[in-house]
Amino acid sequence: MKLFNPASLFTHLPYRGKELDEATDSENTDIRITRSLTTAYTVALSLIALLSIGAHLLLDNVIKENVSSAKVINVAGRQRMLSQRISIYATALEQGNIDLKPEFLKLTTLMEQSHKALVYGNGKLDLTHKLTPELRQLYFSEPDALDRRTRTFIKNTKILANSTDSNQRQEAYKKIQAASLKHLLPMLDEAVFLFESDTTERTMRLRNVQQAMLVILLMALSLEAAFIFRPMVHRVKEATFKLYNLAMHDALTELYNRRHFMETGRRELLLAQRRQQPATLLMIDIDHFKRINDTYGHATGDAVLKKFAIVLLQALRQTDIIGRIGGEEFAIILPDCDAPSSQSVAERIRATMAETRLRNPSDLSWTVSIGIAILDEGTDNLDSLMQKADAALYRAKESGRNQVVIS
Ligand code: GH3
Ligand code: MG
Ligand code: MG
Repeated sequence: MKLFNPASLFTHLPYRGKELDEATDSENTDIRITRSLTTAYTVALSLIALLSIGAHLLLDNVIKENVSSAKVINVAGRQRMLSQRISIYATALEQGNIDLKPEFLKLTTLMEQSHKALVYGNGKLDLTHKLTPELRQLYFSEPDALDRRTRTFIKNTKILANSTDSNQRQEAYKKIQAASLKHLLPMLDEAVFLFESDTTERTMRLRNVQQAMLVILLMALSLEAAFIFRPMVHRVKEATFKLYNLAMHDALTELYNRRHFMETGRRELLLAQRRQQPATLLMIDIDHFKRINDTYGHATGDAVLKKFAIVLLQALRQTDIIGRIGGEEFAIILPDCDAPSSQSVAERIRATMAETRLRNPSDLSWTVSIGIAILDEGTDNLDSLMQKADAALYRAKESGRNQVVIS
């Protein structure tokens, strides 16, 4: 029979007076702690949910940013290629290759649209970027503004394609060639470089924010685990332990209750029978207990029952199974104990009880009657053994109480 710390358990079971106030206080504290833990748990989960949503949105932004960056860099790079192709087509047109004109105009239109989309962010290409100060300078700062140069280049390609004046066309052709080679290509190169740097920088910034977010999330999780989840698991464990003990033990004496005694007892007897070991059952009843209640009051009766349990626990082995099976009736299974030994155990209990006193009232003494039944290997089960012990107990009572009778 294992002893467990009485202070930690049953703190809310039968109370009187001051004890009741203390118990109510402790229950209130329990409720307060449980409530604050539940609130903390809800807040903790919400925080994690918010951080997760934040991380998700951030990732969403990174993906969008990457898609849009890829588009911008692609369009900017294509401008270089278009300027080169237009210059080659211009030469072919100038040499009278007139059937290339539609393709030439198509390239020109594409370059114009792309330029507008890159610089002003509108048009059919669906670019959503903004120009950095460096790009603004490249596009708009004179005397070498890329915006003006590109528009002039496109204007000249249109003149070359559409003008009927051959001098004008000649002039336009020269300007196209000069611009393409001298200014436009290096500046478009520079634009691609600046667009690339800008997107790389923005991606890195988002990555840093994302990493910071991850660190915050991990820190939040660790703090919550330490200060919320761990105490919570601890309390759940404690509560489960309390419930488990409540279900098994009698509230007043902390001995096994009837149900748990029967369960454990049945298993013990089956084991003893299988191993062909002896076992005995003691049935103990306090003599004239009603008188104690009547004379000293119910609280003193309770104190006697508690004291009785303590004396039993001290007198028996840890492996013995003790249960409170009725008001002032107790049953004990002594495993591996034959008739003579169990008789001496019972006798010892009887004698000790007769000498035991409460601290207050110190004049109160009580005796017990004990019936013993020895397990019969073949036929007995717990119920039949209890009946036999009960019969022996009855005889002990009949023959004047404060006696041990063996069945
Ligand atoms: P006997 O010697 O024949 O056993 O007489 P008895 O008075 O002990 O037996 P009886 O069965 O007449 O009375 C048992 C009493 O035990 C009656 C009941 O009020 C009391 N009792 C049962 N449970 C408790 C309890 O938890 N606390 C207290 N104080 N009394 C209890
Ligand atoms: Mg009695
Ligand atoms: Mg009784």
